[in-house]
Amino acid sequence: MKAVQVIGYHTKLQLNEIPEPTVQGPLDVIVKIGGAGVCRTDLHVLEGQWEAKTGVELPYTIGHENAGWVHATGDAVTNVADGDKVIVHPLITCGLCRACRFGDDVHCENSQFPGIDVHGGYAQYLLTSARSVVKIDPGLEPADVAALADAGLTAYHAAAKAAGATRPGDVCVMIGAGGLGHIGIQVMKAISAVTLVVVDRNQAALDLAREIGADVTILADGHQVEKVLELTGGHGAEAVVDFVGEGGATAQGIAMLRRAGNYYVVGYGENIDVPTIDVISTEINFIGNLVGSYNDLQELMVLAARGSVKLHTTKYALEDFQQALDDLDNGLVRGRAILVP
Ligand SMILES: [Zn+2]
Ligand SMILES: [Zn+2]
Repeated sequence: MKAVQVIGYHTKLQLNEIPEPTVQGPLDVIVKIGGAGVCRTDLHVLEGQWEAKTGVELPYTIGHENAGWVHATGDAVTNVADGDKVIVHPLITCGLCRACRFGDDVHCENSQFPGIDVHGGYAQYLLTSARSVVKIDPGLEPADVAALADAGLTAYHAAAKAAGATRPGDVCVMIGAGGLGHIGIQVMKAISAVTLVVVDRNQAALDLAREIGADVTILADGHQVEKVLELTGGHGAEAVVDFVGEGGATAQGIAMLRRAGNYYVVGYGENIDVPTIDVISTEINFIGNLVGSYNDLQELMVLAARGSVKLHTTKYALEDFQQALDDLDNGLVRGRAILVP
């Protein structure tokens, strides 16, 4: 089969002809790829940022945002059958460790991460496990939802946590209405009755935010903290979800928080610098977010099937992988780039 592989770091990916994966274990599932999302993490893999963390043997197939059709299954697989449309949770998990038993897939002690530390989905077929495949509504197309497996899942995970910790009428501020933010906004609107305030530097992104569910939009022009405080009677917001995490966004976001409020970190880059006396005297909380669980992905697929969460995509043939990566690197992709084998 055709597979796009990492053959070295600081060098381009290569389209190779390799053997199709086959079922080895009883819970193995082979997915015929319908779409593989092209992600900034793929660029970071090529820059060697993951080399020391994973020690993956080269060459290997990249691509961690995958969806398609079940092609073959091991003897013990009962949750999917050949031909089922599925989206693939980014991790292969063991099901037996303490984290797995809590449903906390992301922290599995024995996980594999296709596209990062084993063969991924820039290919015609992908090997995963029964625990990782989520059946999708027949009305959804794999190539349209593939990128929800990572970027969308992360946004869902954070927004669902914020939704669960707030009540109708509370104020939730989302910082950043870009790739992840625009999923977070749609999720929040679909599952919560908070007043949703969206802050961004870009007026076009705010216009889109308004169309997809923001109740209030605020241009990040240096006065955004005052505006949020004004809107909340001087108290601040119960929840702030930060999809940016750099360029001063975090310091400003923390200043928007109410006493005992929750700060959800999604984007990253800068440091959180808050005097500990302020943390204890106001009981504010800082909450990290890393991808999402299997159940998060299943819930997100319910919203996608209802049309509550939509992702704009630009599709490329698998052979045009280099164009897709270049376009992503140069900021030319509208929505998410998807490779279609
Ligand atoms: Zn990704
Ligand atoms: Zn586990």
